[in-house]
Amino acid sequence: MRFVLATHNAHKVAEFDQILTSALTGVSVTGYEGPEPVESGRTFVENAFIKARAAAEHTGLPALADDSGLCVDALSGMPGIFSSRWSGEGATDQRNVALLLAQLSDVPDAYRSAQFRCVIAVVIPSTSDAPAREFSVEGVWAGRISGAPLGSSGFGYDPIFVPEGYEISAAELEPTAKNALSHRARAIAALANMLGTA
Ligand code: IMP
Repeated sequence: MRFVLATHNAHKVAEFDQILTSALTGVSVTGYEGPEPVESGRTFVENAFIKARAAAEHTGLPALADDSGLCVDALSGMPGIFSSRWSGEGATDQRNVALLLAQLSDVPDAYRSAQFRCVIAVVIPSTSDAPAREFSVEGVWAGRISGAPLGSSGFGYDPIFVPEGYEISAAELEPTAKNALSHRARAIAALANMLGTA
C-alpha cells in the first residue's frame, strides 16, 4: 500500500519510509505538497486527523499525518499542541526553550518530568472492496527537563530534554541514537505493527 504523508518536511518522509519499508513489504511513503489545513484541534490526535483527512481528500490516496510536541507534567501537559509557538508571535526554538526554562525555574529536579509525544493518524479512503478506515497510534518518549540547554544537535526542545535512562540531553545524543529512541520512531514502529497485523 502506498501512503502519502502530509508534511512538507523531506526528512520526515525519509524517516517514515525507511522505518515502514524495513518493517513491512509492499508499503511505501511519499511526500504530499498540497495545501496545509489550519491545525485547529485541541489535541495531537485531532490535529493529526485534520492533516491526514485533508491529504486523503486531496489525493484520493491512503494518507498519514503526524502531530507531536513536548508535554511537561509540572505545566499540566503544556506546551503540548502549542510546542512550536509556545513563545507567541515569531516564536523560535531558542525563545521557546528560554520561556519554558523560565516557567520551570522554581521547579525542583524531582518534578521536572516530561514526555515527547507523537500521534500518527491514518486515513484510508474506501475502495470497491473495503469501507474507509481511520485509526491512530502514539509514541511516547519519557524524560525530564534540564536546568539549562545542553548540546547543539537536533531541533526544538532537544537541548533541554534529558531522556529517561540518560544523563545527556537529546541534543547531545548521536542523531542515529535519537532517531532510534524518539517519540516519532516509537509511533512509526507502532504503525508498522498495526499495519502488519491489520
Ligand atoms: P511537529 O508536529 O513535528 O511539527 O512538532 C511540533 C513542535 O514540537 C516542534 O516545532 C518542536 O517544538 C516540538 N518537537 C516535536 N518533536 C520534537 C523533537 O524530536 N525534538 C524537539 N522538539 C520537538
